[in-house]
Order: sequence, then C-alpha cells, then structure tokens
Amino acid sequence: MLKARETVLEIDLNALTHNFEYLKSKLSDSTKFLAVVKAFAYGNDAATIATHLEQLDVDYFAVAYTNEGVALRDSGVTKPILVLHPQPANFKTLIDRCLEPSLYSARVFNKFIETVNKLNQKHYPVHIKFNTGLNRLGFWKNDVDYILSKLKEVDSIKVASIFSHLAASEDLNEQEFTKSQIETFSSISKKFISNLDYKPKLHMCNTSGILNYPEAHFDMVRSGIGLYGFGNSPEENTNLKPIASLKSVISQIHLIEKGETVGYNRAFKSSGFSKTATIPIGHADGIGRQYGNGNGYVIINKQKASIIGNVCMDMIMVDITNIPCNEGDEVIIFDQKYTAEELANTTNTISYEIITSISQRIKRKIIK
Ligand SMILES: *Cc1c(COP(=O)(O)O)cnc(C)c1O
Repeated sequence: MLKARETVLEIDLNALTHNFEYLKSKLSDSTKFLAVVKAFAYGNDAATIATHLEQLDVDYFAVAYTNEGVALRDSGVTKPILVLHPQPANFKTLIDRCLEPSLYSARVFNKFIETVNKLNQKHYPVHIKFNTGLNRLGFWKNDVDYILSKLKEVDSIKVASIFSHLAASEDLNEQEFTKSQIETFSSISKKFISNLDYKPKLHMCNTSGILNYPEAHFDMVRSGIGLYGFGNSPEENTNLKPIASLKSVISQIHLIEKGETVGYNRAFKSSGFSKTATIPIGHADGIGRQYGNGNGYVIINKQKASIIGNVCMDMIMVDITNIPCNEGDEVIIFDQKYTAEELANTTNTISYEIITSISQRIKRKIIK
C-alpha cells in the first residue's frame, strides 16, 4: 500500500464486505439486514458505504436525520431508508424523497398523518418506535390501543415495522434487563399485530444485540458499528476488521532543550533533551483536546509517540525522542492493527466517538 503523504482517512471496502458477511452469518436466512449509515456512515463516507452495501444486497438503510437521507438519495441510493429521528419540520422533504420516518410519539405521529393526508398519499410506510427501557425515544407500552385506533381511521399510512432499541446489549452484566426489554417488545408486537390485517416487520437488535441475543433477531436487525469493524468486546473485535485507517505525515521535527516548552500555554515542559514531531491533524479534524498532554498517541515507525502539550486546531506535537524517523515519514493515528478503539480508551471514550468525530476536512481515500 502507498504511504500517506498528507492526512487521509483510508476506507477499506473489502473489510466492509468481510464485516457484512460475518454479521450476516449470525442471522437466519429470513432475517433482513438494515445497515445504519447515520453520521456519514460513522465518519467514513455515507454515499460510498451505502452504495457498496447496496451491491452486497443489504435490505434497508437507516440514518438519524432527514438531511442524511436526502444526501443518500442524491447519491443514487434506491433501497428503503428509515429516518430514526425525524423532526416534523422536515416531513414534507422526507416524503418527497421517499424516506420512511420513525414515529416515536403522539405528537410526531399526528403531525406525520396530517402531512401525508395533505399530500394525498396512500399507505405511506412508517415505522413505529417503542420505548422498552432505554427511555430515550418511543411510544410506551400502554400507547398501543391509541396507535391502533388512529391507524383504523386513516389509510394514508401503513406500518412497515415496529421496533425498539436495547439499552445495554453489549453489557453482559445487564442480561436480565435486556431480556426484560425483549419480552416487553414481544408482548407489544403480539398485541399490535393481532389487531392489524397485515404484518409489519419487527426489529430491535443493534450490533451487540445481533452478537449476544440471537433470540431477539426477529424479522430484521440494525447494524452500525459492526459494519465499521468493532464488536464491543475483545472476542468479537477479532472477528471484525476496522474499515478506516487514519494516517498523516511528519511535517517538521524539532530538537528541544531541557526546560523549553511545546505548544499553546506552554503545557509541555521538557525535563531533558527531547525530539518532537509536528503532525498536521488537530481538534478541528476530530482529535479532541482530551488526547493531549500525554493521553493519546500516534504510531511512527511501529512505535507509540505520545501527544505532548495541548492539541491545536490543526496540529499535534508528539514525542519522538527515542524513535528513529524523518520529516515526511508516515504517521498512523489508527488502522486495523493500532485500532481506533484502543486510542479511544486512552481518554475513557469509545470507538463510536472517535470514528464519528473525524471531520469532513480530511480527505477520504477509498480502497477497493
Ligand atoms: C445507531 C443506532 C443503531 C446502530 O447501533 P450499533 O451499536 O452501531 O450497531 C441501531 N438502532 C438505533 C435506533 C440506533 O440509533
């Protein structure tokens, strides 16, 4: 592979295929696969990821917001797209672009019906979200009768699916709670379906749900982080391949005498002779200030070089006192070996945060 000559996020589509196939191998043949591509496909590149997954025959996509769905349609994605957290202000756009809303409260449910009626739609697909314990978004169990009575009054919408979201699918200490969520969802679904003359799809598993709760796969699963190569456990991480590698270069090397300082507010004070490298990536690129002052690191010549002083907007400085290297050499921030998850752990955060933070300023390079 060519060495990086500037800051670049390499996206390995073969790894994406591997992760998709691995996750699919956990499902029965009849279970559908929804790929979660919100937030630029977790910081990668939503259009590229979705187009590739469409070729692999994924069944559904999900995004968080309407504008993310519009961007996918603009780039030619034709499979159904569920919008997980739409706002009524965008319902007309959502319908114009054939996106499918999650309806999670009486307010958005009624506003959506109002909008589809105005637009003379018939049987517009919607997804009813139930809260079974996460207490974030969703109708409550005792809202079922209300929703059913409303559905009997209108033929402008049709329930494509009923779904819920697990609060702690990756935490095996919370198995009992997760099982109670699954039971609540099953009982809601039973009641719902017995009162309709068609059968909406049921789904509740995210990536860790797919891996840890096969009994809860229902008709479809929703995977995000697993597609991008993280399984929320050391064992599953070995079965998946991170698709993104963040690389950069050494812009300049400085020789620092004892007592000198490095960076803003003189946060690093040299206790002896040291060598530093300046790297063109900063907090505006997604390397937050918390990675500074010795917490985070980059890899140069197969060795960890810790980030010293404060992270700047466009740069970091790292300690290379004991690392043989030259200006122009490649720097790895994370890749398939030195993972984003390990780097995230240095500041007590998770893979999800660091990969979704990689800003749009960084060039994406697609590897097929
Ligand atoms: C983001 C999201 C997912 C994907 O979760 P992963 O842990 O990344 O697989 C699934 N369902 C909902 C409702 C989400 O918001």
